Amino acid sequence: MIELKNVTKKFDNFYVLKNVNATINDGDVISIIGPSGAGKSTFIRLINMLEVPSEGQIFVDGEEITASGYRVENIRQKIGMVFQDFNLFKHLTLLENVMKPQIDIKKKLLVDAYTESIRLLDVVSLSEKAKRYPHEISGGQKQRAAIARALAMDPSIILFDEPTSALDPTMISEVEEVIAELKSMGKTMIIVTHEMGFAKRVSNRVFFMDDKTIYEEGTPEEIFDNPKKDKTKRFIKNLRLLIIVIDRKDCDYWGYEADIDKYAMKNHISVKGRTRLKLAFEELVRGIIMDKLGNEPRVNIVLEYSNQTEKLKMTIKYNGDYFNPKDSDNDLSYHVLKSAMDGIEYSEIHDDPVYKNQVELVLDDQLLQNLYKKIKKQ
Ligand code: ADP
Ligand code: MG
Repeated sequence: MIELKNVTKKFDNFYVLKNVNATINDGDVISIIGPSGAGKSTFIRLINMLEVPSEGQIFVDGEEITASGYRVENIRQKIGMVFQDFNLFKHLTLLENVMKPQIDIKKKLLVDAYTESIRLLDVVSLSEKAKRYPHEISGGQKQRAAIARALAMDPSIILFDEPTSALDPTMISEVEEVIAELKSMGKTMIIVTHEMGFAKRVSNRVFFMDDKTIYEEGTPEEIFDNPKKDKTKRFIKNLRLLIIVIDRKDCDYWGYEADIDKYAMKNHISVKGRTRLKLAFEELVRGIIMDKLGNEPRVNIVLEYSNQTEKLKMTIKYNGDYFNPKDSDNDLSYHVLKSAMDGIEYSEIHDDPVYKNQVELVLDDQLLQNLYKKIKKQ
């Protein structure tokens, strides 16, 4: 059990957390969500004493780890940590990475550390890569190796700081599977993650952090489907959206397309649907709109997938004069756009200081519906 009592953390005179109280029970799997800078990383770093509280106390299994004279090595044996950027030792193979903490901290015999490391790499399905170096494997595999290394201390508690946010969607699920597996092993886990589907599946409690504290907490259903407080509501709504703002001519189109692709993939849009979506973005934004906006473009793009209608809506607002893309000189781009999307609707905006135009695109990705119908028929 972990208990935080009136924990405050400040850096110089800047408060990151103020009077945080929390109890985490054995076997709890807690997802932490919240805006960037809310103190999520600081919160979990305090729990294994990577940061020291400015005020307040933290107890782990009844023992005060914040007491003066407490030996930090004790907590490192009990609590494992997995970081966003893996933090593997680059000059060591995966096997050696997993062996290292057992030899350094647990003072195990080489042969025992070896045997245990082979077993742990098997748990994360990496036994075949044991002799590889981190640069020779994918991001998802690196993260699984980092999890094996955390497991090497046989911790009862594992902290994860955005373990999948540096990964592509295909690799996200392989890491999530491993974490779900740890749950079945009875590990207590605290996971900073914005992956809603995963958080719902794996955790029994969700902490939403804001205002320098745990602003709202509840079951995944309570927080994701029925948040009560304003800031939580707003955050959850935005979590379901992808928002892109373009405010310069030489912007990173590739990066935006990658973001769009990721978002669509996360919402189970088919490969064909994703291609159509990127094509629409390319032709409309890059091919038509940006040309019209001169040197101070402002384009706001919001993607929203609705589970109810199974349609993806892309709303594009832009500045400049009133201009319907249909009247563009770029016939080819508009033609491609039309064939890529299932709906295009232009409207003028009259009450916004920046945006004068809005285009709503709809993608009706049939793949899921067809699959559903097919399965239902059987
Ligand atoms: P989150 O993980 O929710 O994005 P963090 O816990 O990383 O938030 O950071 C919370 C705030 O504390 C941020 O404003 C950050 O800049 C600040 N902060 C974090 N670590 C330090 C540090 N070592 N020194 C000074 N400020 C820090
Ligand atoms: Mg963080």
